[in-house]
Amino acid sequence: MKRVFALGFFLVSITLLFWAAQSSSAGNEPTMVHSEFSRCEPEILTSDEPFFVSATDREMAEKEWDNFRNYADHTRIIRYIPRMTIVRPLSDEENMSLRDATGRRNFPPDSYVPVKVMGLRDPRAFDNMASNRHLARRVDPCTARTSRCPNNRRLESVQIGDVGLIFAQSLKPAKDFNFIVTENAQFLNLPETVMNSLRGKTVRVATRDGKYRARICCKPDSPEQCITNYIFQVIGSADSAGRRIVEREVAMAPRQCESFLHALNPVLRSQTDAIRSLVTYVQQTQGFQGVRDLEFFDSVGLVKVPLDYRRRIEAGHLGGNAAIQMGPGTHSFHYTPDDYHSGDAFNDPTSVCAFVNVIRRWEQICPDANCAVGWGNCYHPPSWGVHGSHGSKYCFDLRPITRDRDTGGVTVYQRNYDRENTQRLVDLLTRAGGVGIFNDGSYVNMFFDDSRVNGVRSAPNADHSDHIHVCFPADRPEVQNACARGLQ
Ligand SMILES: [Zn+2]
Repeated sequence: MKRVFALGFFLVSITLLFWAAQSSSAGNEPTMVHSEFSRCEPEILTSDEPFFVSATDREMAEKEWDNFRNYADHTRIIRYIPRMTIVRPLSDEENMSLRDATGRRNFPPDSYVPVKVMGLRDPRAFDNMASNRHLARRVDPCTARTSRCPNNRRLESVQIGDVGLIFAQSLKPAKDFNFIVTENAQFLNLPETVMNSLRGKTVRVATRDGKYRARICCKPDSPEQCITNYIFQVIGSADSAGRRIVEREVAMAPRQCESFLHALNPVLRSQTDAIRSLVTYVQQTQGFQGVRDLEFFDSVGLVKVPLDYRRRIEAGHLGGNAAIQMGPGTHSFHYTPDDYHSGDAFNDPTSVCAFVNVIRRWEQICPDANCAVGWGNCYHPPSWGVHGSHGSKYCFDLRPITRDRDTGGVTVYQRNYDRENTQRLVDLLTRAGGVGIFNDGSYVNMFFDDSRVNGVRSAPNADHSDHIHVCFPADRPEVQNACARGLQ
């Protein structure tokens, strides 16, 4: 079982020259964190994964979790592992000693990978989904064909430090992601200057030609003791050509800095800037800590519109204990009261980001509470049976503006309907790239049944007299702009 990472030695890289040209900061050598391993070989390229991000295999594609199996017996499912959990592969030495400790005779089949759990999403989002009638199925570890609930007891989530087996096809390589570093994390064993240069930043694991840049370093007095450092890059936002400025490079070995892996929050590369914008928003306005407060719907690649769970309006006229959740902004609210945990408040991160910026600007244009925007009906897959046109991940329903505040909504035929302010809102939505999407995928004016409002159209076979159906497709430059730069 001796893995020959020495192979990489032959691939002497020219990356240092390349990075010298890319980086504007003085001193282009990566900061070497593990100073006791001071005898370093030149940089190499390796295919060995520093760590993985868990997904689910094809059979579990609709699930927000996958099976986590007993290290010594891959047929036994012991926990569930949520999507986007960070795990690192066990080293050969760790496998050797675990094999002895667990009495296991052989290594597990190749289709299972022995891993240690290194980083978890905040469990609140998962719990919220479990109490939502549309989403509960996706987070119930007992509903999958491949899962068993032993003695009818629900599986529990893995915890940091757990060791077990994961189906190989449920693991995605670290290089496919960027990582937002938790702000208030404790990085044990890291020098303070290094910690401070990483907190709250976006990092990635440096690659070249699809392989990881790495440096093998050994202790000077015992050349047998070596570690493989990977290069972590602190990156800024993308320029117009999609390239990112590298602020700093830090060389670390995942096994030697587990506390750093605990603080990494994976985000898809294409969604990084939108999610960063949302993080900035919730930190500035809602007193949130950061990325761990956002709720993700990972199997579909969505994020929830940030809601302020501390501010709720009991909506008496709706009966029961229905509650309206406030946010984003000061006055806007999510109106779907039968859906307490907001199953339909998720959308594509760029669309959510553009929508949040629309609301922020709108509350400057019309700060009055009467101008509150009631919104809802975001992502709805066809299987939910309602709002079939909301499967695109880009669309929202917004209620027209009212003259007197009424959280119950209004139609364009009612006296309480405020056409003038609704027109101003439609103008803002248009500037943010808001459109309607036809069945063939083409973009048209957003749907709203008031022919005296400019910039909207009626949709055939649908009543849009009490809401504006607006979509912010992530591929539209206006939408990307509204997300990245906000609206003036
Ligand atoms: Zn709609």
